[in-house]
Amino acid sequence: MSKNTISPRDAQWREDLRKSMTAKERTSIPRAKMNELDPQYRVTCNEEVNQGLSAEQAQLESRRCLDCPDPQCMQGCPVSINIPGFIKNIERGEIGQAALVLKETSALPAVCGRVCPQERQCESKCIYNKMKKEPVAIGYLERFAADYLQHSTDAPQPAVEAPNGMKVAVAGSGPAGLSFAGDMIKKGYEVTVYEALHEIGGVLKYGIPEFRLPNSVVDIEINSLKEMGVKFIKNCVIGKTISYDDLLNEGYDAMFIASGAGLPRFMGIPGENLIGVMSSNEYLTRINLMGAGKPGWATPVLTGKRVAVIGGGNTAMDSVRTARRMGASDAMIIYRRSLEEMPARVEEVHHAQQEGVRFMTLHNPIEFLGDENGRVRAMRLQKMELGEPDESGRRSPVAIPGAIEEVEADVVIVSVGVSPNPLIPNSIDGLEITRRGTIAVNDSTLQSSMPLLYAGGDIVRGGATVILAMGDGRRAAAAMDEMLKSRK
Ligand code: FAD
Ligand code: SF4
Repeated sequence: MSKNTISPRDAQWREDLRKSMTAKERTSIPRAKMNELDPQYRVTCNEEVNQGLSAEQAQLESRRCLDCPDPQCMQGCPVSINIPGFIKNIERGEIGQAALVLKETSALPAVCGRVCPQERQCESKCIYNKMKKEPVAIGYLERFAADYLQHSTDAPQPAVEAPNGMKVAVAGSGPAGLSFAGDMIKKGYEVTVYEALHEIGGVLKYGIPEFRLPNSVVDIEINSLKEMGVKFIKNCVIGKTISYDDLLNEGYDAMFIASGAGLPRFMGIPGENLIGVMSSNEYLTRINLMGAGKPGWATPVLTGKRVAVIGGGNTAMDSVRTARRMGASDAMIIYRRSLEEMPARVEEVHHAQQEGVRFMTLHNPIEFLGDENGRVRAMRLQKMELGEPDESGRRSPVAIPGAIEEVEADVVIVSVGVSPNPLIPNSIDGLEITRRGTIAVNDSTLQSSMPLLYAGGDIVRGGATVILAMGDGRRAAAAMDEMLKSRK
């Protein structure tokens, strides 16, 4: 079964389910509320904030779905998950089947159920919006079914084809690399993933904090790839430890580049070199990957009572919420537009607010001020107002002349975007690079200017999302498979 095609048997049980309740009965059920830890408690620890739905809640929520003949929710999903297909399996109590429907198109549903911006994707297209009701909680249900699969011992495993004698390399073990590896191993290739860091998982491990995405959830997915036969080589930087030519000499037939966008951007304003000013990447990597702040770990990280995070994306929310957990009593978001334009997931903004984060919207730093020891002590903030929409469609921030205020801060975390890591692009002669430093690829096949090299995820898109990176991994696997088999 793929996309929204349903087998006759499915059609029968779905028809029976449909008749078991009227649409009026279904639409009168209120949307499930996610169980979450109390804000006072959760800022004292790293435990996962969202606790998931209970089986009863998930069952009830699944009944809200109307199993629309033309499900618009699927149009909103970048990998076209068969949304009513998996939800109706939950309704009939076949949770394992629901998870398998998810696995058909999404390599990491337990991850996506936690971090995808559903309110801007599938849920924003749900028919309930037209009825002025809250959409079906597709993300909560996705997490529920995927977690069941992660913890079930008798869940059916995906089929792996017999070895086809070809081997492929993957540069980077984030969501793009992992989903590519999963598809290629199933197609019978020998797959080796090279990772520069000492942990597998990319941003899922070093960026997104434990309180939002526990490492154990990511590890279950990685272990299932290992069980299928994917090999992982850590601490190996392609373009430094080993070159692309070395890989060709080792007999690889092709390579997928999924090296992400890990190069932090700064604002270029005075004071950015002061002690205590750092990028989100540095801050989160020290804490999430290198154990800073945990008993028994030697990694240092600067902490403070007044921590200012500059930016309004997911990375900024993760940083500011981490700062609260690291003891900041005044953790602030400094953002030059208003709450409405913030790119972060609505849930993350809401959780940050619950946790006591101060939102200084319509403020833009123009200078960081230091003390006599060269450590940051304050910021000069330009007050802004909203002007006309810019090319992104969001109203652009305009400085209010003369409206400048000074705000004290003892740590500043800059979270204003990332650029592609230039190492791989610069180390392969003949690889076409765009002006933004991303790898140029064919839009549908993700093949680069070099026929044996494909690329996807943030190294092609710049900073994007987990689901888009995974979707790229899958598309590249399908196209590379076709290319390699056609050469045989
Ligand atoms: P990455 O996840 O960046 O993985 C790339 C991997 O390649 C890394 O492990 C890196 O070490 C490795 N690598 C780099 N160079 C080399 C080399 N030369 N050799 C070998 N390995 C190399 N998206 C969402 O959808 N929802 C969210 O809530 C969300 N929150 C986020 C929070 C943070 C803090 C950050 C930073 C990002 C967030 N994102 C979120 C964005 C999302 O995580 C990324 O879009 C996604 O991880 C990109 O996947 P990727 O596989 O392309 O790259
Ligand atoms: Fe169910 Fe909403 Fe999708 Fe219709 S649009 S199938 S109600 S989730």
